[in-house]
Amino acid sequence: MNNWTLLYEDFKPSRESLREALCTLGNGYFATRGAAPEAEADEIHYPGTHLAGGYNRLKTDIAGRVVENEDLVNMPNWLLTKFRHEGGDWFNLMTVDILSYRQELNMKEGILSRTVRFRDRQNRETTLIQRRFVHMANMHLAALEFTIIPENWSGRIQILSALDGTIINAGVERYKQLNSKHLAPVKSGKSDDDIIYLLVETNQSHIRVAEAARTRVYFEGKQTEVERKTVEEPGYIAQEFFIEVVNNKPVTIEKIVSFYTSKDFAISESAQNAVEALRHTGNFKELFESHVMEWNHLWYRCDIQVADSDRTQMILRLHIFHLLQTVSRNSIDLDTGVPARGWHGEAYRGHIFWDELFIFPYLNLRIPVLTRSLLLYRYRRLNRSRLAAQEEGFRGSLYPWQSGSDGREETQQLHLNPKSGRWLPDNTHLQRHVNAAIAYNVWQYFETTEDMEFMATYGTEMILEIARFLSSLTSYNREIDRYEILGVMGPDEYHDKYPDSEKPGLNNNAYTNVMTVWVLRTAIKALNKLNPKRRYDLLETIGLEKTEIDQWQDIIHKMRLVFHVDDIISQFEGYNELAEFDWEGYIKKYGDIQRLDRILEAEGDTTNRYKASKQADVLMLFYLFSSEELHGLFKEMGYVFDPQIIPKNIEYYLKRSSNGSTLSNIVLSWVLARSDRTGSWNIFNKAMESDISDIQGGTTHEGIHLGAMAGTVDILQRCYTGIEFCNEMLHLNPKIPEGLQRLMLKIKYRGNWFDINITPEALSITSSKERDIIAKICFREKIYEIKPGDTLNFDIKV
Ligand code: BGC
Repeated sequence: MNNWTLLYEDFKPSRESLREALCTLGNGYFATRGAAPEAEADEIHYPGTHLAGGYNRLKTDIAGRVVENEDLVNMPNWLLTKFRHEGGDWFNLMTVDILSYRQELNMKEGILSRTVRFRDRQNRETTLIQRRFVHMANMHLAALEFTIIPENWSGRIQILSALDGTIINAGVERYKQLNSKHLAPVKSGKSDDDIIYLLVETNQSHIRVAEAARTRVYFEGKQTEVERKTVEEPGYIAQEFFIEVVNNKPVTIEKIVSFYTSKDFAISESAQNAVEALRHTGNFKELFESHVMEWNHLWYRCDIQVADSDRTQMILRLHIFHLLQTVSRNSIDLDTGVPARGWHGEAYRGHIFWDELFIFPYLNLRIPVLTRSLLLYRYRRLNRSRLAAQEEGFRGSLYPWQSGSDGREETQQLHLNPKSGRWLPDNTHLQRHVNAAIAYNVWQYFETTEDMEFMATYGTEMILEIARFLSSLTSYNREIDRYEILGVMGPDEYHDKYPDSEKPGLNNNAYTNVMTVWVLRTAIKALNKLNPKRRYDLLETIGLEKTEIDQWQDIIHKMRLVFHVDDIISQFEGYNELAEFDWEGYIKKYGDIQRLDRILEAEGDTTNRYKASKQADVLMLFYLFSSEELHGLFKEMGYVFDPQIIPKNIEYYLKRSSNGSTLSNIVLSWVLARSDRTGSWNIFNKAMESDISDIQGGTTHEGIHLGAMAGTVDILQRCYTGIEFCNEMLHLNPKIPEGLQRLMLKIKYRGNWFDINITPEALSITSSKERDIIAKICFREKIYEIKPGDTLNFDIKV
C-alpha cells in the first residue's frame, strides 16, 4: 500500500456515497465530491459541489409548524460528463461487466483518478480513465480529463459535457421532507466556440454562482476540432460531441472549469469573470503542474510522519488532506468558518460548531494566519451575538450553537428521528459552552502566535463580551453562597432536560461552570495585556465598568461544582440520581448503540433518564487542561483538586458513554494518554477509522467529521509529544505509545519553525533560521535556550 493514496480496487454501489465524501476534492473555496463524472443523484451517487459559506434559507411546513433552515447549497454540477455509442444508452457502471476497477485518491498531488475496464452488452470492451483536480493555487479552477480507449471496436460515440444547475439538495436522507430547491436559473450561453457558461442564483441569499466550462477533444494527445452542438434549458447547458473513434486509439475529453460567485473579491460580474478566466487558462497538464507545486509546498510544512503501518500513515494524511482542502490560503478573507462536516456534504448544513476547538490547534501550529481568519469570522458576528444576548435577557455576546451566514442561531428547531419517524424539538442551542470554546480558541491562537495586534484589535473584545455573557448566565444562590448556571446543556447531547421536566436545560453542568471560570480569569488576563490607552478605549467602547469585573472575581471564587460521593465530578446537578443504563442488554439487542438517543426515543423512553452519555462531557476538562491548570482553577473556586480524581473520573464516565459523537474518542484517547498508553492508542486507532470505515454506520457520506480528523492529528502533535504553551515557553514532554515507533513533525511557534523528531528513547528539536530569536524550551521542568539553527537532544528514557 502506498501511504499517500486512498485506493479502491472494486466498485461497490453500497459504499459509493461514502467514497464520494472521502474522495472529495476542494481548495478552501469550493469542494466537489468524488462522484463519477457520469453520475447524477440517485440511490447510489450524490454528486455535490459546495461553495465555502454558500448558504441559503428555506421555509418548510412540517409537523404542524413552519420551520426555517439555512442550508449549504448544492451548487451546479460541473462534473457531469458522459458518453454513449450513437443511438445507445449512456454509459452506466451498473449495466456493464466490470473487468477491472481502480479508484485512487492521490493526496500528495491532490488528484482523483478512476480507471475502469468494462464489457458492454454488445461485447465491446473499453477502458475509461478519468482524472480530476480542484486547483489548490488558483481557487476558481478545476479540471477533468476523460479518456476512452476502445479495445475491440471502432465506431461513432457521443459525448456530453454539461453544467447542471437543475439539481436540488438531496444529500441527507433525514432532510428529504424539507424544501430543498435553492437555485434559480439566471442565464446560460456559449462564448467562443468551446466555452459554455451557466449563471444561477440562490433564491433567498441571492448569491449568484457562475460556472464556465471549456471542453476540448484530443486524439492520441493532439487537440482536434470535432462536431459540437450546444443544448440549453433553464438552469442547464451542455455541449454534445460526435466522434468517430478507432480501435485502440485513445480519445480524450478535457474539461477545464471555472467557478465564480457574486461574493468574490476582484471581479466585475461572476459569469463574465468565469468565461474570461477560461480564455487565459492553460490545459490540463499545465494546470496540474501548478496545482501539484502548491500541494508540495503545503505538504512540506503540514505533513506528520509516523513509523507505524502504511495504513496509519495514509489515514493520517487523509485527515490532514481534508483539513487543508476545507480551509486553505484561499479561504483567508472569505469570511467563512470551519464547518463540522467539511464542505464535503450537507449534514449539519455546513454549519460552524464548537468543533473548531478540535481543529484550530493543528492550524495554529502551521498556518496561524488561517486561524486568525477563522476567528475573524466570529468577530464579524459579534454584533449579531450581542443582539442574541439582549434578546434572551443577557449581557455581552451570545454566540450561536450552530452558526452560518450572519451569525444568527441556525440550530434546527425540529429534528427527525429516522427510527421513529417523529419530528422532535431540538434543544441543542442550549449548549452555551460554545462561547467558552470561542474564547479558548482566541487565547490559544494568541499563546502560539503572540499576535498582540490581533488581541488589541479583535481578540480581547471577543473574550470580554463572552465573559460578560457567561457571567450574566450565572445566578447567585444565597443559601449556599455560590454562583450557579441553570438551564443549559453540556457537550453530551443525550441530556437536554430533567426526566420529569417539561422545561429544557440542566443545572450546573460541570464543564460549563469550570469553563466560565476559565473565561472570566482569561478575560482579566487579556485585558491586563493591553497597553493602558487601548485598555481604556476598549472598556469605554463596550461600556465595561470596574464593578462588573469585580463581580467576575466574585464568580470565580464562588462558582458551584457538584460532586457525587467518591470524588466524581457530577456531569450536572442531579446526574447521580439518574438510573444506571443496561449497556449489556441494549448492545445484545441492537448491536450498535451509538445513537442510543434515537433507539430509546423510538421505544418511547429517553436517554434523559439514564447515566448514559453520547460523548465526553466532564472529561473535556482533562482534555483541555493539565492537572496543574485544573488545580489552579479549582483552588480559585474554593475546591480541592487532587490529581488522583482524574483516573477515577475517567473510569466512571468511560463506562457510561456510547461514543455517539466521533469527537468522543478523541477526548478519551487524549485523557488516557498519560495513565494508560495502550488504551489511549487503541482508542486513537478507533478514532482514525471514524470516517474511512464510517464507524457510525452511514454518516460519513453526508460529510466527513472534521473535528475527529483534526483531533487525531492533534493527538499526535500535542498529546503524545506533550507540547504545551505556557509562561512564554514551548513545553515538551513526550510519551509516545509503543505502537508508534517514531513521530516526525514541523511546528510553527511564535513565528519560528521547529523540526521535532521523537522515538520511544529520544527527542530532538531543531530550530529553523527563519526568525532570529532565541526560543525557550522546557523539557521536564528544566528550561533550555535554542538558537536559530540549533538542535537539542534529550534522552526520554531516563
Ligand atoms: C456532537 C457535537 C458536535 C456536532 C457537530 C454532534 O453529534 O454531539 O458535539 O459539535 O455533532 O460535529
